[in-house]
Amino acid sequence: MMYDVIIVGGGPAGFAAALYSARANLKTLLLEKLFSGGQMATTDLIENYPGFEEPINGFDLAVQMENQAKKYGTEVVNDEVIDLELEGKIKTVKTTGKEYKSKTVILSMGAFPRELGLPGENRLKGRGISYCATCDGSFYRDLDVAVIGGGDTAVEDANYLSRLCKKVYLIHRRDSLRATKALQDEIFKNKKTEIVWDSVITGIDGDESVESITIKNVKTDSETKLKVDGIFVAVGTIPNSDLVKNKVRLSKSNYIITDERMETNIPGVFACGDIREKVLRQIITAASDGAIAAFFAEKHVGSI
Ligand SMILES: Cc1cc2nc3c(=O)[nH]c(=O)nc-3n(C[C@H](O)[C@H](O)[C@H](O)COP(=O)(O)OP(=O)(O)OC[C@H]3O[C@@H](n4cnc5c(N)ncnc54)[C@H](O)[C@@H]3O)c2cc1C
Repeated sequence: MMYDVIIVGGGPAGFAAALYSARANLKTLLLEKLFSGGQMATTDLIENYPGFEEPINGFDLAVQMENQAKKYGTEVVNDEVIDLELEGKIKTVKTTGKEYKSKTVILSMGAFPRELGLPGENRLKGRGISYCATCDGSFYRDLDVAVIGGGDTAVEDANYLSRLCKKVYLIHRRDSLRATKALQDEIFKNKKTEIVWDSVITGIDGDESVESITIKNVKTDSETKLKVDGIFVAVGTIPNSDLVKNKVRLSKSNYIITDERMETNIPGVFACGDIREKVLRQIITAASDGAIAAFFAEKHVGSI
């Protein structure tokens, strides 16, 4: 069976692409290896996706996105894509159980936040531990929080959170920041932030939610406890791009590089959502990417 569009990954980017593709009357297949919604489905309350005055649960939003895409004809199959042949007019998509052919492929395999790897981290995820300041910052209004990291994201997060929170500690393992100069200038001037230099987080305490963290100074080995209500982990994200290594052009950090039509360096192969090299990784930007990818996939199908 020949498809017009095969979408790899069923997060918000994939389902937005599926919706636009199916509504354009293209024969559309979406392959998802785990559960629909991706990272979004693991999020309890989403406050910043337009159209929902009250926060919506990520899993519920995922179900709605999937049903909406299916309503217009998207076929959804739960299977992992294990190989791709992307060169040439007709692409081959191999899953654990089957082989599919398509005129275009949209890559939307997403990314995942790097974790600290500390005991208690899994238990307190979403209960004081967050990996996304833009997503969860507003739950910590007037509270004390710590941001872990020293790169652009960490410093940006600390600056952003200082506009909402009472106090923001930035815990950084070195004695200087890696972030760009402008961000550093902003944080150094910021009276609500305190940088804890040469320090790593070694423990997280709390029963129902985060109550405090243990910080170790890497130069003196001394440990101190810091009372905080929340921890924002900003030590990087990892794209799910292993599948396309050496197949499409990737950035230094292994994100897929696209043009503004979401097309990769291979004609007929598009990428959207968190797997792309981009500045803001959110549900709304993932959905927007998906719509654009499908729009130009349609043009590609029409041209061959
Ligand atoms: C804890 C947390 C809270 C967040 N909160 C918010 C928020 O409040 N608001 C907001 O806007 N954003 C939030 N985000 C960010 C948002 O969830 C992501 O930006 C968004 O989900 C990215 O969508 P995506 O479709 O690009 O990728 P993903 O959501 O990562 O989905 C990718 C999908 O591809 C599948 N996949 C991967 N490889 C394969 C393969 N080989 N074969 C088949 N399927 C595959 C995965 O299983 C996954 O389902 C949050 C993120 C996290 C981690």
